[in-house]
Amino acid sequence: MKIDRNPTRKVTIGKIAIGAGHPIAVQSMTATHTANIPDTLAQIYALESAGADIIRVAVDSTKDANALTEIRKETTANLSVDLQENYRLAEKLAPHVDKIRYNPGHLYHHERQKPWQEKVRFLAGLAAENGCAIRVGVNCGSVDPAKKDRYQADDSIGPMLESAIEHTDFLDSIGFTNYVVSLKDSDPSKVIEVNRRFAKERPEIPLHLGVTEAGMPPEGIIKTRIAFEQLIGQGIGDTLRVSLTVPNSDKPQEIEAGRAILADIAAGRVRSVVNFSTDTLNIISCPSCSRVENEAFVELAQQVRTMTEYARKHALTIAVMGCRVNGPGETDDADLGLWCGPKYVNLKRKGESLGSFSYEEILPKLKNELDQLIEGLVS
Ligand code: SF4
Repeated sequence: MKIDRNPTRKVTIGKIAIGAGHPIAVQSMTATHTANIPDTLAQIYALESAGADIIRVAVDSTKDANALTEIRKETTANLSVDLQENYRLAEKLAPHVDKIRYNPGHLYHHERQKPWQEKVRFLAGLAAENGCAIRVGVNCGSVDPAKKDRYQADDSIGPMLESAIEHTDFLDSIGFTNYVVSLKDSDPSKVIEVNRRFAKERPEIPLHLGVTEAGMPPEGIIKTRIAFEQLIGQGIGDTLRVSLTVPNSDKPQEIEAGRAILADIAAGRVRSVVNFSTDTLNIISCPSCSRVENEAFVELAQQVRTMTEYARKHALTIAVMGCRVNGPGETDDADLGLWCGPKYVNLKRKGESLGSFSYEEILPKLKNELDQLIEGLVS
């Protein structure tokens, strides 16, 4: 299948380049605790062996940052650091990584009086000095709240798009262009729409594609494939990640799935679009990362899928998230949302908290809530 790719700018990430006709890079992210250097390195090696072009590592603390500088000494992989609220950690890390990912919706948590432009200028300065790329990673579950307020409650795409355009305009205005943008949602149809709209407005900016919290295989791969076929088939996308909820030892599956989707698109083996938005049970679950606070998370996600099998025909969404960093926000729009803490699982029904329950208590509690929702749908 001949695809005319968008004429995006070249962006250099360590030893590779994306955009400007370069091959679409496939990436993944470590899910071990970053401070656990042996485990994190083992996962980096496994992802590299599976063919990862870029490997992202989350850093939330000075301890993580110190670990990543040690990890750098043991690998030549193209490393991307995923910053959360503490954007200043980039200062320590920029000399040791190839790419810095920041989320515009997370820049507000620290130094609230400081304008976001100053923080981005700081990050871009470090990236330029150290030859790093940047990813402006906009996520449906963590959009800048001030931006969200200016749109209708059911318009999740408008604020994401505005946030991405605003940050690209600013980076361009200060002369930093070695960056990519991502716009992720757990709903493939929204991923398609928001990326299409962004690519129409800014066709020169490389895009990192992904469906966030796609869930477990095979459904997680199918959801992602739907979005990627639609976007890559239209020339949109320069790098991608398939986010899957799988045990740590199976993380290389993300790379294998990404490569398989790309090979199928290139060979014209594309499937027709499935409508995910309405008539069946939709389970979304995060791919896990170093922030997971209880290893039981992946098993819980699998148990939720098995336990809810009986509700397959009902149009409800259940979200299962691995931590308190993104879990609370990312479960807001689900009919039933769970996010895992170290000892307890927090349960929400349509955005409202129902309390926290032990890992043993949560499944019966979830079933009870699910039964009530189904009853409401059928009565
Ligand atoms: S919800 Fe938490 S654990 Fe899951 S991928 Fe996001 S940050 Fe990581």
